[in-house]
Amino acid sequence: MEKQFTLLLIVCLCFLQVLPAQQNIDSLLPVRGFCIGAPKPKDVDAFTKFIVEELAPRKVNTLIVRVDYAYQFKSHPELVDSSALSKADVKKMINACKKNNIKIIPQINLLGHQSWANETYKLLTVYPQFDETPYVKMPEKYAWPNADNLYCKSYCPLHPEVHKVVFDLVDEICDVFETNAFHAGMDEVFYLGDDKCPRCSGRDKAELFAGEVKLLNDHLAQKNRQLWIWGDRLIDGKTTGLGIWEASYNNTYRAVDMISKDVVICDWHYERADKTPVYFAMKGLRVVTCPWRMPANAVKQTDDMVNFRKESSKEMQNKFYGMMQTVWSDAGSFLNGFYSKKKDDKGGDNTPWNSFTALYEKINSFKL
Ligand SMILES: [Zn+2]
Repeated sequence: MEKQFTLLLIVCLCFLQVLPAQQNIDSLLPVRGFCIGAPKPKDVDAFTKFIVEELAPRKVNTLIVRVDYAYQFKSHPELVDSSALSKADVKKMINACKKNNIKIIPQINLLGHQSWANETYKLLTVYPQFDETPYVKMPEKYAWPNADNLYCKSYCPLHPEVHKVVFDLVDEICDVFETNAFHAGMDEVFYLGDDKCPRCSGRDKAELFAGEVKLLNDHLAQKNRQLWIWGDRLIDGKTTGLGIWEASYNNTYRAVDMISKDVVICDWHYERADKTPVYFAMKGLRVVTCPWRMPANAVKQTDDMVNFRKESSKEMQNKFYGMMQTVWSDAGSFLNGFYSKKKDDKGGDNTPWNSFTALYEKINSFKL
């Protein structure tokens, strides 16, 4: 009996010791994220190992996997990329995440990013009628800038048939990832409300953008799912000097006042620790700061996020939602760089793997 009591006491003490630490890190930064392109099927095992051996010990609790059309969709097999993940591949990643309390969020780029360089992605290849700018022909050799101002193609948010297809994909990917959150991308949308689109011409671009966010958010909410998007279209690029990429020059930014406060904003800034999280939080939106390849900026942005949480009113504290490392390659290329400690193009240390390491060293250095 006494033995049992001692055992119980030890268990309770361990529990008490572990629990406050977990609560503390969650209150320090509720979201500790990592966002990466889906692994190719051959890299799934290596990536799953990385989840267990590198993400979990660093207390990452949110993993965004950019899937797009690289999943073997049953609802729309015509949209599946040639090198696509199977359900079994996805389950391997999910099981590793479940065991380590990591929330996994799939991403399909919606609205914009329907092409890259001279390649049109599946949605607009199979359904060219959804193209916002069908008159813009894909170049043989892509260069920026170009006469068409072509960065990426968009689908037309007012096409009467596009959402039936898009929602099938969203529902299926959320089901297979067993998740209550979905990331819709929606960054760098340059083609929107085009003058030549019979449905969109003359319309307010902020309203078009906000309308698409609302449709997606309402659809996801029916199954208690949360919408995450990138923040750049919601920032005024000219006034802030943040430019056409990480902010908007095409008049979409007023949408910040039109979208649901339930949407989570991923606010990416790669060259400087811009203080835009304050802007989103003051609009009542939860915001996650996203560094990429500059370790020093990742550290500064983490300090900022922690300080914003400390030095704000109670109402705003919870809007400062956390930090997320972004990686703009597929998982296989990242793992190669991470494990071989590859240098950047100039032989320096500004790489996504170094930023990831620095970000999480910083997060785990706070005294809890
Ligand atoms: Zn249109």
